[in-house]
Amino acid sequence: MFTIDARKIYHPEMFNREPRVSVDSGKFITLGDQNKARRHIRALEYDLVPGFIDLQINGAFGYDFTSQPDSIWRVAERLPEFGITTCLPTIITSPLEVMENALQVWMNTKPAGYHGTYLPGLHLEGPFLNPKKKGAHAEGFFQMADPRLVQNWTPQNGVRMVTIAPEIPGAINLIITLSQRGILMSAGHSLADAHQARTGFGAGIRYATHLFNAMTSIHHREPGLVMVVLEQEEVSFGMILDGLHVAPELVRLAWQYLGNRRLTLVTDASAALGMPAGTYQLGSNEIQVDGFSARLADGTLAGSALTPLKALQNLQSFTKCSFQEALACWTANPARVLGLRDRGVIRPGAVADFVLLSADQQVAATFVAGELLYQAPWANLQWV
Ligand SMILES: [Zn+2]
Repeated sequence: MFTIDARKIYHPEMFNREPRVSVDSGKFITLGDQNKARRHIRALEYDLVPGFIDLQINGAFGYDFTSQPDSIWRVAERLPEFGITTCLPTIITSPLEVMENALQVWMNTKPAGYHGTYLPGLHLEGPFLNPKKKGAHAEGFFQMADPRLVQNWTPQNGVRMVTIAPEIPGAINLIITLSQRGILMSAGHSLADAHQARTGFGAGIRYATHLFNAMTSIHHREPGLVMVVLEQEEVSFGMILDGLHVAPELVRLAWQYLGNRRLTLVTDASAALGMPAGTYQLGSNEIQVDGFSARLADGTLAGSALTPLKALQNLQSFTKCSFQEALACWTANPARVLGLRDRGVIRPGAVADFVLLSADQQVAATFVAGELLYQAPWANLQWV
């Protein structure tokens, strides 16, 4: 057991009483004023916030999960550097054997004594997408929505989330089947009109993948998928807030539709996250990454090199929302979307996943299940 004193605590709302938490056996046990434990950390320069939950991340540190699924656990051991304590490694459209192989990696190769970001399963972004909204996905690997192809897709086998285009033939049956198995179904890479979108939500879709990107845009006579998402209050949506994928004006539009409850920030990060500018892999494509964007040779945006903290800052700057509201989009909101009741918040009984942030919003330290997994070289944590 240990206690930790911080500058402030956000859970994600600001906790105003004495900023101290106690952690035992990987969980928060008390919040607020209490006695110090024998092991105690003074971290008074830092704000204590829940760890970040990323529903869409394609790789990092030079590794691309789709073309190198063996890297999933290795990369996840380093993601605490960015404050990410839970994520869904995302496999983009690729041959079904590749997707199957990634599921096997998740199921069978977690290293003994693993210390890293919690991986509740994978996000399969494809292969049941609309080729006309392929984005950076390789068109040759798209599949018809055939239930025989997904017989073993269950959360137990590692399929936690699936992005699908609801308008492609057979999609509605697949959405019903997979959502009944407990998989989070998401609309994306889609040309669905408003009617097709509503049919998809009626069948069990509860999320939209990178809202505005790779989907029908809003037209005044054909509102399309975006407007239907915004109007469905029980549907949440991801957004890539690097300032390139979605213009700030549209971020504000989405924010006005209860965005503080329904928006989940995602990085959609590529192998370039945590690496210098250069050429990296995304699925079967090469991408060029500079300091700001990741693109295919033809200029199509292909994932990002966005850090969670940059997205957090951009959300505050684009919408003028509070730090707490932005924080919920990395923590409580995605936890609720995934049905993780004991993560994404700081309260007694929840898993002790948390980040210490400096005043200039840098990650000073990250704890997963109560264990210190990352400490920045400059961070001043005093064990007393
Ligand atoms: Zn995508």
